[in-house]
Order: sequence, then C-alpha cells, then structure tokens
Amino acid sequence: MDTLERDPHIAAVIFDLDGVITNTVYFHYLSWQQLADEEGIPFDKLAHDRGMLGLNREDALCYILGDRKVDPIQQQLLLKRKNDCYLELINELNHEHLLPGIGNLLVELHAAGVKIALGSSSKNAELVLNRLGISHFFNFMADGNSVPRLKPAPDIFLYAAKSIAIEPRQCLVIEDAPAGVAAALAAGMWVLGVGPLDRLSQADLVLPTLSGISWIDIMAKIKYCFNSQIIDS
Ligand SMILES: [Mg+2]
Repeated sequence: MDTLERDPHIAAVIFDLDGVITNTVYFHYLSWQQLADEEGIPFDKLAHDRGMLGLNREDALCYILGDRKVDPIQQQLLLKRKNDCYLELINELNHEHLLPGIGNLLVELHAAGVKIALGSSSKNAELVLNRLGISHFFNFMADGNSVPRLKPAPDIFLYAAKSIAIEPRQCLVIEDAPAGVAAALAAGMWVLGVGPLDRLSQADLVLPTLSGISWIDIMAKIKYCFNSQIIDS
C-alpha cells in the first residue's frame, strides 16, 4: 500500500488481541499440556515454545500428536477437550492481565472519539475482553468466527472497518505478529507493530511496548510517516 493513499487522520483503531491487549499463550499452553497428559503423550513447555507459537488449533494438535493418526471425529473431540479446558482457565483472567499501556490507550481513544474495534483470530475473543473488563470500549469485535480467511488475508480487518463504517485508509491496526502486519497493509490500513523491530519491520511504526505512549504521540508518528513519504515521492 502506497502511504499516500492512506489518510493520516485516523478515525478508528483496530486491535489484535493476543500479544497486544493481553497474553493468553500461557493459558493455551496449560490446556494443551493437560490434553497431552490425559492422552499419555510426552509434552512440555519447551516443546510448546519450540513448535507451537503461531499455529492454528488444528496444526497445533497435529504437532502434539506427532506420528499418532486420528480420524476427523477424534480430532474434533480432542480440540473440544482442549478448548473446554482453556475456557475454564481464562475464567481467571481479570484487568491485571492487560498488557502495559493498553488501559490508558483505550481511555484516550474513547475520549478522543476514535472508534475502537477488535480484529482477532481467536474464537474466544469476546469472552476474553469481557473477563479483562474492557469490552465496553469496543464499538465492534471481529473474531475467529467472523470471516473464513485468517490473517495474513486482510478480511478480518476489512470486516471490522466496514462494521464500524470507517474507510480502511483511516484505520490504524495494532499488531504483534508479521501475519497481522501483512493483513493490515493488504487491507490498506496503517499499522503499528508492538514487539521486536526485526520481527515487525514491515509495519509503519514499531514500538517495543505500548507502555508510556499516548494517542497524541502515535498520531504524531503517523503524520511524520505520511509527510516523509510525500518528501520521498
Ligand atoms: Mg497477536
């Protein structure tokens, strides 16, 4: 996406969930561990961290099962057991599990009249936001049930923008994963990456964390990006 086609006056911010608003990776790990233990499959945190980060639930199950073959019905039953365990665990989530800076940013966006949406591949996103006590900030939540094509396809962000009636070129996506950054750019949106620069170098802006950053700072950085592009062109 050519920066010049995007509008530096941001009217909506679309948040990824995991790694941006909160971190549910540990809860996912614990529920996979319980499933593996019940099935007598050797598995531990190291194996999880080495091979399962970023996998969808079907691929994650394949990884745990290794050479063991299951039919589609058994696969669905195993995934349901894992998800039931995860849903029980995330009952423990509360506002203390918000990642640094998120609470302040939501308050500032709300005060500034900027629309707020979610664009998460998680099928439990709404429940997680409810548990975190922040769902009232969101004008719309697009989750893993909203569109068939997952990131890096732009669909979930386009769907969120359409649902809040804001042009993609006036949306800013906040993401922590390369596939999410690619999806936002493919949607013609601005993208702020949160995490290491080497992982998110395609984003318009990259910050190590949202802690200590204000909405005014973010807007100033977007305008700077836009103006630099004009000078370069
Ligand atoms: Mg994420």
